[in-house]
Parts: sequence; C-alpha cells; structure tokens
Amino acid sequence: MARELFTARLARKECISEVAQCYHFDFVIDQLESFPYAPGQFVSAVAPDANGKVQTRAYSIASAANSNRFELCVNRVEDGFFSNHLADLPDLPIGGTIQVHGPHGHFILQQPITDSILVATGTGVAPMRAMAQWLFPPEDGPNAGPDRSDGKQIWLVYGTRHESDIYYKEEFEALARRKPNFHYLPTLSRGLDSWEGLRGHVQVHVTRIVEERAARLGLPLPQPAPDPAIPKADLNFDIYTYICGLNFMVSGVRDLLAAFGWHRKQIVFERYD
Ligand SMILES: Cc1cc2nc3c(=O)[nH]c(=O)nc-3n(C[C@H](O)[C@H](O)[C@H](O)COP(=O)(O)OP(=O)(O)OC[C@H]3O[C@@H](n4cnc5c(N)ncnc54)[C@H](O)[C@@H]3O)c2cc1C
Repeated sequence: MARELFTARLARKECISEVAQCYHFDFVIDQLESFPYAPGQFVSAVAPDANGKVQTRAYSIASAANSNRFELCVNRVEDGFFSNHLADLPDLPIGGTIQVHGPHGHFILQQPITDSILVATGTGVAPMRAMAQWLFPPEDGPNAGPDRSDGKQIWLVYGTRHESDIYYKEEFEALARRKPNFHYLPTLSRGLDSWEGLRGHVQVHVTRIVEERAARLGLPLPQPAPDPAIPKADLNFDIYTYICGLNFMVSGVRDLLAAFGWHRKQIVFERYD
C-alpha cells in the first residue's frame, strides 16, 4: 500500500553542536491541521540523491506532538547522504522542504507509566526529549498540560564523549529543577579535567540506578523471573528501560539488564544502525 507523503517545511534550523555537527530542526506540515504521534516514534524522510535515486531514512521525532509541527535532532554523518541533505537545507527566509511519511515505530512508553530509565547516546536523545516533553508538559503557555508521569521516577542517562555534545542540556536541567521525579544524568567518556559531572559509559550509571532502587525498595537482585504461567499480555512490570542509540551501546545495556534478571519485555529499544 502506498504511504501518504507529507511535505514538511523547515521553519527553523539551529546548529546545537559545532564539534559534533548536530542540528536541531523545526518542521511544519502546512497541509495538515495536526500531526499526531506517540512520543518515541519516528518519521521516514524521503528525498532524491544526486543521481535521482530516492533515498529514505528514519528520524526519531524530538518533540511531543504539537499541532502540525515536529522537531528533529540530526548529526552529520561523514559522507552520508541524508544527514548532510538535512543539515544543508535552507531555513529562512523561506524554508526548504522534505517529504516524510509516518509516524512509525514501536519505541513508545508502556502504559501505565512506571518508573523508567531512559538511556541514550548521541542523537538517540531525540525520542527521549519527546518522551520527557510528553510526561512533563510545561505548566503554562500554549503547550501546557497535566503531568503524565504519575509521580513515577524517570531517569535520563545520557552518554557522550565531550561536554559540547550534551544536546539540550539546559532544557533537561531546567526540567530536573522543576520536577523532583525527573533525574538527569549526563555522563562523559572523555570529559576534560574541568568537567565536574558524571564520567564513564552509560552502563555504569544504569547499573547504579538499578542497584540503588532495588536496595531502597528491598527488592532482590537479580530479579526473580516472572512465573511462566502468566500470559505475556498480563506481565505487569514496575520498571522499564528505554534505550536509543547505536547498536553497540543498546546491546551493552540490554546485556547488563538481562544479567539483573530483567525480562526482555521490560527493555524497549531503538537502534539507529
Ligand atoms: C528508527 C531510526 C531512527 C533514527 N533517528 C535518528 C535521529 O533522530 N537522528 C539521527 O541523526 N539519526 C537517526 N537515525 C539514523 C538515520 O536514519 C541515518 O542512518 C543517518 O542520518 C545516516 O544517514 P545518511 O544518509 O547521512 O548516511 P548513509 O549514506 O546512509 O550512511 C553512511 C554510513 O554511515 C553509517 N551510519 C549511519 N548512521 C550513523 C550514525 N548515526 N552515526 C555514525 N555512522 C552512521 C552507515 O552505516 C553508513 O555506513 C535513525 C535511524 C533509525 C533506524
């Protein structure tokens, strides 16, 4: 079945890290009044390359649903076609356009909302930003809405090499100040001596969160496996982990959670490569 293509107009583009060549994009779909999706989903962007061959790439939406708009966070990949096409797209005075179809994907928050560990590296933070915006909408302004976190603990563990690549840092810091149940943990694998925050790979900090939570709640670790007699649809977990980024990180975090006895259904992930 042919997928409906929408024309998305670039309303704003901002380079959010010169070093990593990472860009934030605001797009508008003028032909639609609203473009609904679940936080965590992606759009498929379509454009012809220099040889006229139509190329399609997936990009996670970096914002919670908001009328006919959506945001992306994309870094240039050396010699890559689509990431450079986006980064070079003109914005003002008249925005360049791309074609998109979607939304797509199953990387979405499980209901009801539980304690959740969001783990991302690089532009894998994009769907986490959408999830955080959906869980904790602003208290006033056009996007104001009720807190949807149900008081659950939400950790965002964000790993990157350098301080300059901590995308949306001020936004997440402001959210952590506003919401005591949102915990923001950026960690650097190659931080300078001047970096006073967390260090090491995301795995170190996910381990600490899981161990400290189990100790605080008096839960055993490793977790006991659920009774195999319980049908899959009836498995009710009190915590999920959502992981997004390149495959080597995603597999590393999945392996460590499996060693803690986590069920594979408790680990929701999106791989970019
Ligand atoms: C579900 C999903 C969501 C995604 N969301 C995002 C997003 O929000 N932001 C984003 O920047 N990317 C995202 N990606 C990756 C994106 O789809 C493209 O793969 C990426 O932009 C590279 O495309 P390209 O055309 O520039 O490079 P290509 O011409 O396709 O590839 C060039 C080479 O770079 C490698 N490569 C691909 N992606 C990366 C990467 N991220 N880092 C390093 N090397 C890479 C490829 O394996 C290939 O060898 C997502 C991928 C998936 C599957």
